[in-house]
Amino acid sequence: MTNQAFVTIKNAAKSYGNLEVLKDINLTVERGQIVAIIGPSGSGKSTLLRAINELDPLTSGEVWLEDVQINKKLPFRQYEAHVNQVRQDIGMVFQHFNLFPHLTVRGNITLAPRMLKGLSEADANKLAEEQLAKVGLSEKIDEYPSRLSGGQKQRVAIARALAMKPKVMLFDEATSALDPELVEEVNQVMKQLAEEHMTMIIVTHEMDFAASVCDRVLFMDQGVVVEEGPPSVIFQNPKEERTRNFLRKHL
Ligand code: ADP
Ligand code: MG
Repeated sequence: MTNQAFVTIKNAAKSYGNLEVLKDINLTVERGQIVAIIGPSGSGKSTLLRAINELDPLTSGEVWLEDVQINKKLPFRQYEAHVNQVRQDIGMVFQHFNLFPHLTVRGNITLAPRMLKGLSEADANKLAEEQLAKVGLSEKIDEYPSRLSGGQKQRVAIARALAMKPKVMLFDEATSALDPELVEEVNQVMKQLAEEHMTMIIVTHEMDFAASVCDRVLFMDQGVVVEEGPPSVIFQNPKEERTRNFLRKHL
């Protein structure tokens, strides 16, 4: 495998009115790489992740997945079809799970494969069973989300994303809303994905997890990438004062 970039973000900028939230961000992620994004609240981490799958498009700059520009300008109808297509390749997991409360676990996982990929009910069910087994929740397939713990909900959300067979997974503080005793079960699932060489971009406040799982760490502050490097450098020997200050409070 060459080290050709898999995800490429070029000169990304994003403003909300006069507020510049992302300023000239450049990032490449290679196939199978696991990148952690750390940084203070409000630094633009979620905005960057949401830009990658066009949930919240950039003001300027480019996002590419392999040789496809995700945020290309197209007439409205073509754009909708394009975005639906590319989002299938990008799984996203949110802090607050975002499961559909009126659907069972099975319904949550089978919805997109049926609607977007046209899978038969039987095939979608099989997929749901496989993905649930993977996150250790086979017995919950007919439960509603309200009957699950936070850790279980998040594992279902991961199974739902994986059911689309994405090329890359984005995690936005996937464990931040969990009680401390439930964090590990979700981290375990993410570690398992890492062992399977899933390409992942992980926004996290858990420095130990980032250090143990990620190949690279980016420290963001005020809309810029202040510093990036392997975990051993960023956590043990950061160059920038802003990184050191942040880590002093969070390690
Ligand atoms: P982080 O995830 O690092 O905490 P965010 O990307 O959520 O940071 O937010 C970065 C900045 O953008 C913050 O100042 C936030 O208030 C602002 N912001 C985020 N989303 C919106 C929005 N939809 N409208 C206006 N401002 C927003
Ligand atoms: Mg955020």
